[in-house]
Amino acid sequence: MNLILIGAPGAGKGTQGALLAKRYGVARISTGDLLREAVRAGTPLGRKARSYMDAGELVPDELILDLVREALTDGAAGDESVRRGFILDGFPRTPAQASGLDRLLHEIGRPLDAVVVFEVPDEVLVRRLSGRASCKQCGAVYNVHSEPPRTPGVCDVCGGELVQRGDDDPETVRRRLQVYREQTQPLIARYQASRTPVLIVDGDRPVEEVHSETVRKLET
Ligand code: AMP
Repeated sequence: MNLILIGAPGAGKGTQGALLAKRYGVARISTGDLLREAVRAGTPLGRKARSYMDAGELVPDELILDLVREALTDGAAGDESVRRGFILDGFPRTPAQASGLDRLLHEIGRPLDAVVVFEVPDEVLVRRLSGRASCKQCGAVYNVHSEPPRTPGVCDVCGGELVQRGDDDPETVRRRLQVYREQTQPLIARYQASRTPVLIVDGDRPVEEVHSETVRKLET
């Protein structure tokens, strides 16, 4: 199972990507997570990426393409799940990234099975992102409005501290949504014009319902 997930920030790509990866025993590769890790570790990539991320802008295509190549090839050498398949979460986000991905997948002989698009209205996205908090330790994601932790500020899974993402503040969220509309959404038409099936899923529903609808569409 080789998939791309497309959706605005807050559409549920991360949550749904994790459920799909578990169900199919494949790797979830999130460029956002890889970049945040690089920023935390202070690597040269992290230092270059940080200012773009803080501003809600896209990190330059060349850096992202190198990151994904590494995740799918060298970095994946010892990872059994990547050999079984991959779910790309948050990549590609621009036409240049989509072309780069086409070339890379051709080169490594791993065609895409489908593109899954999660659709969620803007007002829901803004509410989700403003209430989003994740665990510093294990990465579990909560929402103070719709899926609060049992104890405020504390992770149900591991007891870690819950924090808001730096780029989930209202101004940066507005910019991220604009960047999505301008640069990423047009990729849907591009894939619709290709041979890869594009599955449109209504993402404005409870997590489990979105997951089962996605699985149903993938398997029919
Ligand atoms: P995400 O966690 O997917 O919302 O990504 C957080 C931030 O990381 C984005 O706002 C961008 O600054 C950066 N980023 C993640 N993936 C990409 C990508 N494919 N291309 C460019 N920038 C990215």
